[in-house]
Amino acid sequence: MQVMAETHPKWQQFTNGLSNAIRAHGCDHTHEHTRALLEVLGFADDEIEASVTGFTEAGGFCDCEILTNLASPPSEPANTEPERPCTLDLGSLWVAEYSPQQGCLNMMTAREVVENNLRQIMGGWANGYIPFAICKSAEEASRACDVLTEAMLKRGGKSDHLGRIFMPEAAATAGGAQG
Ligand SMILES: [Zn+2]
Repeated sequence: MQVMAETHPKWQQFTNGLSNAIRAHGCDHTHEHTRALLEVLGFADDEIEASVTGFTEAGGFCDCEILTNLASPPSEPANTEPERPCTLDLGSLWVAEYSPQQGCLNMMTAREVVENNLRQIMGGWANGYIPFAICKSAEEASRACDVLTEAMLKRGGKSDHLGRIFMPEAAATAGGAQG
């Protein structure tokens, strides 16, 4: 029984394929691309399930998070921070972001945002989140998310059963994000 992980001989092939799939189709907060890729790589159903369980336990809760949280460049130790072009205290600022493809709002510290972005740039992809507010606290960022949600709904945005919210134009092109 094989399990896909950083130690697997096809790990690089897997993460390259995952990065391409996300670039082409986005991530809909599932392991859809992961499962499809593992099948192509010859994994049996129980091996795919075991791999996905392993990813989830390690912080890879969806396709894009496997790349963000688990796929560090093999030449670097996993805990090495990417080199930062800016040295301000970004840990005390909060950023509210929205992804038009995924319909999701997100908030994290400015440090996490730039670290994620650097990792993605180095990996040749982007998760599509757009920052729309920079705040002094998590509460303020959360309020900014509420204000944006309200504004989107007022202008014809629709929320789905998962709480994702899309503007009508984006919903028409979101494709796989409907499930
Ligand atoms: Zn994702």
